[in-house]
Amino acid sequence: MNAKVWLVGAGPGDPELLTLKAVRALRGADVVMIDSLVNPAVLEHCPNAKVIGVGKRGGCRSTPQAFIQRLMLRYARQGKCVVRLKGGDPCIFGRGSEEADWLRDHGIEVELVNGITAGLAGATHCDIPLTLRGVARGVTLVTAHTEDDSALNWQALAQSGTTLVVYMGVAKLEDVRRELLAGGMAGDTPVAMIENASLPQQRACFSDVSGMQAAALAFQLKAPAVMVIGQVVAQASTRAALGSLEPLAVGDTRWLSGEAPLADPLICAAGG
Ligand code: SAH
Repeated sequence: MNAKVWLVGAGPGDPELLTLKAVRALRGADVVMIDSLVNPAVLEHCPNAKVIGVGKRGGCRSTPQAFIQRLMLRYARQGKCVVRLKGGDPCIFGRGSEEADWLRDHGIEVELVNGITAGLAGATHCDIPLTLRGVARGVTLVTAHTEDDSALNWQALAQSGTTLVVYMGVAKLEDVRRELLAGGMAGDTPVAMIENASLPQQRACFSDVSGMQAAALAFQLKAPAVMVIGQVVAQASTRAALGSLEPLAVGDTRWLSGEAPLADPLICAAGG
């Protein structure tokens, strides 16, 4: 492959959720730059590439964005084929388009490759259809966290009638809860909070909007997690399997899969 940067979505964690195109890009890579949310197991597709960890997760040594971009540029200018592996999809809260624009402005050929975003994977792994005829005619992906703390129109979201999928929300659960209730969302709207979606250590906690903060606290919900909010959550057949068709009581917690929460092996693995 020629000098080029591939901005590739590695999916939510399960290495089998990688696309064939992502595998092809990895096979042709000279240099692979891997984010901390990416499962290192996918590196089996690039045994001969130089692998550089460029994680940016809270609490770990982080790699500044500008440094990552310059590194990609440097390798591409050396004629190397660079794959930048990002968790989920590169363009869902992943800066994929910003990086693509910056590289193109510097004369580098770029190709973006979709990945399965965490919200979709989490919902599917909990048997939650994000849209459903007669129940939800749409889905909205939002981040609870922004660099500039810019406001989100929670009232519009609360009243949109679409399923909400909230990323980066673990530390903001109380804000999300308060804003949705203030915006007119019914307190008994079902919520699923899904941690480590698609990985063996996936856990999910079911609650409702009123009780989500208390339930998450009791569950010791940790990042990375996505929140799925809406009537579609009531479809989760796993709940039926757990014998709980009624909304769960506040603080009631269930393991969906796996035993105890494992220490996330990815948190610092690719931190520097
Ligand atoms: N580009 C990624 C999102 C990056 S933002 C994607 O498309 O999935 C980081 C946020 O994604 C985390 O705070 C969390 O909300 C979510 N996330 C990423 N991987 C996850 C996983 N395996 N399980 C649950 N949430 C995940």
